Amino acid sequence: MSEEFTKISLEEFVNEKTELIDERWQFQPATLTPTQWTPLTLQGLPRGVLIKIATYLNVIDRACLAFTCRHTHQALGRALRLNPGHERYMFLRRLERDGIWPSEILCETCSKFHLPRRDKTWNKYEGPRRCIRYGNGRALEYLESPFLPRQVHFDIVAAITRSYRFDSGLYDISSLFSTDKYIAGRANITSNVSARHYKGSIVLKTELVLSAGKEAFASENVEKLQSMLQKSTKLQNVCQHVKWAEVLPFIFLPQLPTVQKSGHSCLGKHSSQKCKISGQDLHTCLWTHSQKCWSRCDAYSRLGSDLQRLWSCNMCSTDYKISLSRKQGKSSETNSLVFTSWKNLSRCTSVYNEDWAAHMNSGLSAHQKRGTDLYDVARSFENPAKGLFDFEYYPSV
Ligand SMILES: [Zn+2]
Ligand SMILES: [Zn+2]
Ligand SMILES: [Zn+2]
Ligand SMILES: [Zn+2]
Ligand SMILES: [Zn+2]
Repeated sequence: MSEEFTKISLEEFVNEKTELIDERWQFQPATLTPTQWTPLTLQGLPRGVLIKIATYLNVIDRACLAFTCRHTHQALGRALRLNPGHERYMFLRRLERDGIWPSEILCETCSKFHLPRRDKTWNKYEGPRRCIRYGNGRALEYLESPFLPRQVHFDIVAAITRSYRFDSGLYDISSLFSTDKYIAGRANITSNVSARHYKGSIVLKTELVLSAGKEAFASENVEKLQSMLQKSTKLQNVCQHVKWAEVLPFIFLPQLPTVQKSGHSCLGKHSSQKCKISGQDLHTCLWTHSQKCWSRCDAYSRLGSDLQRLWSCNMCSTDYKISLSRKQGKSSETNSLVFTSWKNLSRCTSVYNEDWAAHMNSGLSAHQKRGTDLYDVARSFENPAKGLFDFEYYPSV
């Protein structure tokens, strides 16, 4: 959808016109006393002049002028009879940008302002809306996604960014925060969701902290962790294009042969073809070796290069990272793994905004691409004041 509006605002346009008229009338005031002189305002313009001005304007500008006050509305009311499709929506976009009705959001599907839904359910007022249709609205697949936390959906994100833009304080970003715990025996996953504003958009951060309990039961508990992930779309996926278990396969599947990715070497004293580090070595080091293992373990440095990396999805505005929190000294516990993703949710001024739509199950189209620079989403959350590659991140465990 085109966002190109005429650069000259309505006010500027009207001011220009009134100045012209002012100049012509400047000869008269000399003979008038200050009390007789009323400054020329929109209210002072005769109906005929207003209509002349409005005739020069495009349909949307004309509607805006008619909407300015009672006086212009009386003269130009017909200008508000807009075509109910695109014209009406473009007019409402102008009102949206002016911050009108701050408690509501402009819904593109309904082509009107309405209150945001607070969660993914709907009440008797919300159900009949064109965007919902009691759960059968086609637009629903652009409003919510199985790849986002349950409290994150279009209406609430749109309301929060709008509230932030106009400083209304009506919708707070903290309603996107959540903490959930998933437990299977001694294996558990804690999910922490937080968010922040960045250049008018919202950046969402999700940390999944994986604990496999006692070292003696590591392999059994790692399997439990894997099946917990598999049971939930939200836990399993970094985004709809990547699954956590695919990023570093040896985390869950030690028996797979290790694939030397380009740019990754174990730093051992041999060529990469002769690398003796197996998936099992990496898996064992990852889950059970303490901080001191570097002095005797070949897997340590190879793991280090994998864990330093920040990844980026090139289909949607998601960056992600796997971090390891190694135990300090002798401990019978396994290490904790942290899966972190950062997602730019956009401003949500439209459900078809590319950064929003790319997080939706349906996606937009085959030529979907992300709207932010690679690696920039994580940086914008963690180090917004720094340059693109000055990325620093320490997980919260
Ligand atoms: Zn007026
Ligand atoms: Zn709607
Ligand atoms: Zn090696
Ligand atoms: Zn090790
Ligand atoms: Zn993606």
